[in-house]
Formats: sequence, C-alpha cells, structure tokens
Amino acid sequence: MAGRLDGKVVLISGGARGQGEAEGRLFAREGAKVVLGDVLDRDGERVAREIGSSAIYVHLDVTQPADWQRAVDTAVRSFGKLTTLINNAGILRMEGIEDTTLEIWNQVLAVNQTGTFLGLKHAIPEIRKAGGGSIINISSIAGLIGVGAASAYQSTKGAVRILTKSAAVQYAKEKIRVNSIHPGVITTKMVIEGIDPEARRMFELATPLGREGTADEMAYGALFLASDESSYMTGAELVLDGGYSAQ
Ligand code: NAD
Repeated sequence: MAGRLDGKVVLISGGARGQGEAEGRLFAREGAKVVLGDVLDRDGERVAREIGSSAIYVHLDVTQPADWQRAVDTAVRSFGKLTTLINNAGILRMEGIEDTTLEIWNQVLAVNQTGTFLGLKHAIPEIRKAGGGSIINISSIAGLIGVGAASAYQSTKGAVRILTKSAAVQYAKEKIRVNSIHPGVITTKMVIEGIDPEARRMFELATPLGREGTADEMAYGALFLASDESSYMTGAELVLDGGYSAQ
C-alpha cells in the first residue's frame, strides 16, 4: 500500500525521544526515510535500530553549525536527497523574568531559537536541490499566548512562530513550505520532568478536551504538514492543544 510520505527524506532534530521519536516511527511507517538527530546518542541509536533500514541516527547538537551540516550531508549520502525538516529539538525552563539568569536565557535561546535558525539555514539548500519540500518548526502554545512563567521559553517559541512565517514568504517561490506546530501540554519527558504535577493537573482542568496530548497526536499533525496533502499550506500555525488557546 502506498505510504503518505513515499519518496520523502526527513531530518528530525530531537528525534531520540518524545515527539521527535513518535514522528520518526510514524513517518517511516508512511514510507519516508528518516534521519534522527539528537544529543542523546544511545536513545537515538536505539530508536533508529528499532525502526530498521529506513532510519539512521546522527549526533546533532542543534546549537552547532558543523553538526547541522553533518546531519544534512548524512541524509543526502544515505538516502539521496533531503525533502523535509522538522525543527523539533527544544528545552524547557520554567523561570519567570526575575528568576531567569542571563545564562538560562542564553541557553534556551541557543537551543530553541538559534537551533531552529541553523536548521533552516543548513537544510534549505538541499531541499531546494530536491525541487522543494516541507519544513515544520515546533513552536508551542507558549509561542501564541502568555502561560505564566517560562519567560525565556516563551520568547523562543514566539520567535520560532514568526521565523516560520518569514521563511515561508521567502521560499514559497521555490516550493519550500514552512509551517509551525503549536502543541499544548504533551505527556513527554519534558513535561514529566519539568512541570510539577499540581501545575499539570490545573492545566488539564483548564483544557477543554480535559487531558494532556500525546506524542503520537503531535506526530499525526506533523504527518499532514510533511505530506503533499498540505500542499497549499505555508506560513501557517497548526494548533494542537485540546482547545486551551481557544478560550
Ligand atoms: P523531550 O524533552 O522528550 O524531547 C526533546 C528532545 O530534544 C530530546 O530528545 C532532547 O535530547 C533534544 N534536545 C535538547 N537539546 C538538544 C540539542 N542541543 N540538540 C539536539 N537535540 C536536543 O520533549 P518533547 O515534548 O518531545 O519536545 C519536542 C518539542 O516540542 C520541543 O521543541 C518542545 O519545546 C516542544 N513542545 C513540547 C510541549 C510539551 O508539552 N511536551 C509543548 C509545546 C511544545
């Protein structure tokens, strides 16, 4: 049976666990070749091994330009081209403005914002060579609305939202589509380890669908954006938050 991503070669940053892992597994099932990049080498290598011959793992620290170049080169060398990028790697810090040290601020910006910029910069030349493709930047509802503390995180996710639109407008003529996904609270290690249970419960109660989302639910959204089914969609925001930001 034909897969929804037949012929696509996808690079996923932060692909060793959580949403990136779920996207890698789903995309391979839908016919894509997948390159998983992360700093968690053991986890990433295991996920790639479990997926099989359509996946490969590469060490990718998204703050490092040389790592991005190596990841893009690995995709082209292993699978012949690059058509799709998911800028998914991210870190969460929950401090408010006065508790955010300059060190925390710079660290969160380096991974979430500079990492996304570097991904675009290094992937676009190869996606252009492939005749176009799709780029998906993982922002957050924290990039759309104020959600309390997490000042550095919110800033980066807002920046990713507008960088997405800037890139979409710049590269539309070259058939490179760029969209953002805005997850609500999703049950991954980022949330399990980074947000206290009481705050998670409050958030669930305030979410119209009444629960946290899953990594698989995010992956299905990304699947639509990565496939040609979304061929008329660029510069747009896909909000997957159980209705939280609709209130
Ligand atoms: P996660 O913590 O399970 O996964 C994040 C991945 O990014 C990890 O594998 C981690 O090793 C990787 N990573 C961190 N720093 C990196 C670096 N410098 N280079 C390469 N990889 C790095 O969390 P997740 O929920 O799967 O997060 C995926 C994306 O979704 C992130 O951008 C996050 O901000 C965003 N997001 C998550 C939620 C949520 O509630 N979980 C909500 C909104 C947005």
